[in-house]
Amino acid sequence: MPTPLIWELIKQLIRKPTTNCFPVKHHPGKITVTELINKVQDGEAEINAPVTVPEKFRGKITYDREKCIGCRLCIKVCPSRAIEFLPEDKKIKIRIDRCIFCSQCNDICPVNVLSMSEDFLLANEDRHAPELIVK
Ligand code: SF4
Ligand code: SF4
Repeated sequence: MPTPLIWELIKQLIRKPTTNCFPVKHHPGKITVTELINKVQDGEAEINAPVTVPEKFRGKITYDREKCIGCRLCIKVCPSRAIEFLPEDKKIKIRIDRCIFCSQCNDICPVNVLSMSEDFLLANEDRHAPELIVK
């Protein structure tokens, strides 16, 4: 008489691995992970997403600079001081390396020029990299 442990063992042998290779299914070899990520960003390799992005996911902020009225409300509510005011043109600059993706700036903006995108590939060795600045 098989014990429950044996059934569990059989199930594990049949089941597909739950690990999802990321960022690509097959590493091309002889290149570093950074080079691989760059290839994905340049559209030369297809990304194998770790999971599907759920509804209302809060990824990298997008900003419609032209429509911003420079009211600074977003700066007031930002808990991580990720938003700076640019007085010369009365616009803002967001530092993604400081952002905690709380969406409070997005919620309070009176003209809806901020939104949370589905972009989650934000790892970078340089916290001041242009990809981590939104303006
Ligand atoms: S999402 Fe939150 S932490 Fe990020 S910039 Fe907006 S208010 Fe600041
Ligand atoms: S709250 Fe909206 S309109 Fe006001 S400064 Fe921020 S982004 Fe611009």
